[in-house]
Amino acid sequence: MASVALILKIVRVNFLRRHPVALGLIALILLSALSPLPPVVDAVTGAVSLDLDLVRPMAYTALAPLSNVLDALTFLTLDRAKAFLLLWVPALAVWGLLRPGSRRRRVLTAVLGAVTVPVLAVAAVLLPRPVPRLVVADSAVTVIDYHAHTDRSHDGRRGWTLEDLAEWHAAQGFGASYVTDHNVVFDEEVGEPIRLLPGVEWSVYDQHIVALGGVTFVDRAAFSRDTRAMLRLFAELHRHGAIGIASLPEYWRNHWGDLDAFVAAGVDGFEIVNCAPKAIGFPAGARAQVWRIAAVRDLLVVGASDNHGWGKVTCVWNLSSPSAHGYRSNRVIARSIALAQGDWEPWTAAYTQPWLMLESLSWSERLSWLTWILVLLIYRAVPRRAGDPRGLGILARSLSLKILKLRRS
Ligand SMILES: [Zn+2]
Repeated sequence: MASVALILKIVRVNFLRRHPVALGLIALILLSALSPLPPVVDAVTGAVSLDLDLVRPMAYTALAPLSNVLDALTFLTLDRAKAFLLLWVPALAVWGLLRPGSRRRRVLTAVLGAVTVPVLAVAAVLLPRPVPRLVVADSAVTVIDYHAHTDRSHDGRRGWTLEDLAEWHAAQGFGASYVTDHNVVFDEEVGEPIRLLPGVEWSVYDQHIVALGGVTFVDRAAFSRDTRAMLRLFAELHRHGAIGIASLPEYWRNHWGDLDAFVAAGVDGFEIVNCAPKAIGFPAGARAQVWRIAAVRDLLVVGASDNHGWGKVTCVWNLSSPSAHGYRSNRVIARSIALAQGDWEPWTAAYTQPWLMLESLSWSERLSWLTWILVLLIYRAVPRRAGDPRGLGILARSLSLKILKLRRS
């Protein structure tokens, strides 16, 4: 008995020593379940809404390790993305160099390690893949985006058409989106697969203003001299039957002291979440300050995908109620991992981003991760004779032996 226990102990210790990455990952996946983050929350209250759900397609969940990593790489601020690369690229290269094997093999593993994260980052921006969609119980509510671009914007992805934009929205549960290209008025009618609504994003003095509704040409020069001139744009938009929303990150970066003047000038609302890398880091404290102003003055607070044709997933949706007015007419629902971006220092990104990702996994995603890890572990851990290929080679050999035996009998 004692010897059996000893053998088991040796096997276990060897197993731990041989597969530290897989076993460490399993431990982290289980540990992170102890402090779970809801995948989406109300951006104002932080509450989980019971009348909506983030639905992951089967293929998204089946490929959860890839799906979740690509989502997590999409929701990084610029600074955090840089810090993330700066740590993980050399770390994976060094890990490759320290692997056992011939020198050539180790160099190859190091190069593969170094390019892994950049390749994943490119995949996050370009790779077609299944995406989660927001599903809302109340059919009277419209799931809407207030701010998105096509290739008519100077910085829009080339070939990113209205149809592409509408399909991108439809796949994620949107029923409508305003089209707000930079300084290019959109006033067409599109009904399928979602409604595209008239809008434009005006670049004026140190500020972008999203105009929605009755948009028409304005002479930007008249609003680009200084802050006072810029603020006059709101009244001009009202004259045309449009409303004006102050866009992120500009009012946060350039006009944080002017918010009362924005209100006095007639701003109709503020973005409080914007998924663009330079805006996604808007901190929770600033968000709370803006929604307090909006609640008192009955102004809109909205979320913006600010999609430019890059990236497959939005970090935010709006639930618009036709029966309500002003502040109460719109609810902002955002991915928790996106809202957390402003609360963590850039240099922590290498470990906070993976941890935020793990915390916000659903149980079906956790099971998918564990299944993939176990499959890879079994593949690598099956004992083999010298010279045999890994895992599947064993399977192939035992199959061919069986076939031989069958033939003989
Ligand atoms: Zn924009």
